[in-house]
Order: sequence, then C-alpha cells, then structure tokens
Amino acid sequence: MQPKKSKVESNQKQDEFKLRISGKEIGKYSYSIDCDKSFFEISGLSDVESGLLKLQIEMEILEKMILLDFHFKGELVLPCDRCLDPVSVPLDFKDNLVVKLVAMMDEPCEEDDLWIIDENTYELDLFHFVYESILLALPIQVLHPDDEAGNPTCNPLILSKLKELSRTETQFEEDTDPRWDALKNIKNDQ
Ligand SMILES: [Zn+2]
Repeated sequence: MQPKKSKVESNQKQDEFKLRISGKEIGKYSYSIDCDKSFFEISGLSDVESGLLKLQIEMEILEKMILLDFHFKGELVLPCDRCLDPVSVPLDFKDNLVVKLVAMMDEPCEEDDLWIIDENTYELDLFHFVYESILLALPIQVLHPDDEAGNPTCNPLILSKLKELSRTETQFEEDTDPRWDALKNIKNDQ
C-alpha cells in the first residue's frame, strides 16, 4: 500500500506546478509553491537531503503572451563535497520565462526561457522549468566553511582520514620506478 500512497502524493506535488491559463482574463496572478522534500524526491535532485525553497510566481497574462517571474528563497541541505556531512546552503534567486501564444501550433517549442505554444493550451506545466532553475542555482561545490583560523569545519574524523590518505599518496608518488627516472633524465639531457 505504501508505494501507492507516495505515488498519489508525488502526483499532487507535480500538479501544483500546472498553472491553468485557459479561460483566464488578461491580468496579473500570483502563486506560492513550496519546493520541499517531496519535490526534490520526484524531480531527481536527490542530493538535496532536506530544506525548503519557497517559490513565488508572478504571472502576467497579456493578449498573446504570458510573462512569468520566479523568485526562489530558502535553504537547502546538501552533502559536503569534502566530508559528506550535511551543509545548509541558503539560496535567494530569480528566473523568468516568456510564453508566446500562437494559433495552430501542433508541437510546442520550449526553449530555456522562451516557450511558443498554441493559444488554446489548457495549462502551463512548470515542473521541469523549476527543476532546471534550481539545478542551475545550486553551487558547483558545497563545502563546510573555514573557521576563523582558516581550518575547515568539516567532520574531524573524515578530515583526519583524508589527511592520512593524502600522506600515503604523496609517499607513493615519491617511490617512483627508477627506470622512469632514468628515462626522465635522458629526456632532460636532450
Ligand atoms: Zn565538510
């Protein structure tokens, strides 16, 4: 029974990102959506351990165009790239999307920040757009910050293990094959 329940929950979460545009009058509309654990689980951003990004969407419907402004704000918990312990990453960023409405469009054209879709489209599914926005906003490297003395505040146990490892590696590099050294010398003599 358990998987069925979570399927329903994930569908509900995905449905929150579907904004109905059909029949809506020209004007401005606001939406707030929580990008929470269930969002990160179904979107494939599985590195995110916990945390919450509040997403505010401002949608302006014009005659043949829809303008969307996205504002993400919150904090995500990601594994540290050095020690794998969780690190809180505060995020506050914006993105936007322009949707052009045209007549008789069979295949919608969805490029990064410009979509061209049929004017009779029922709803905008922003799930994937939101996923990509967050993915691009995540830092390339997540690390625990250094303390005042300039030492990393990572898990001390892992740090000492890493130090040990790098010591062994340096030693290994020093113990090179004497034949290679001989070759190197020949090369240097030329
Ligand atoms: Zn760390």
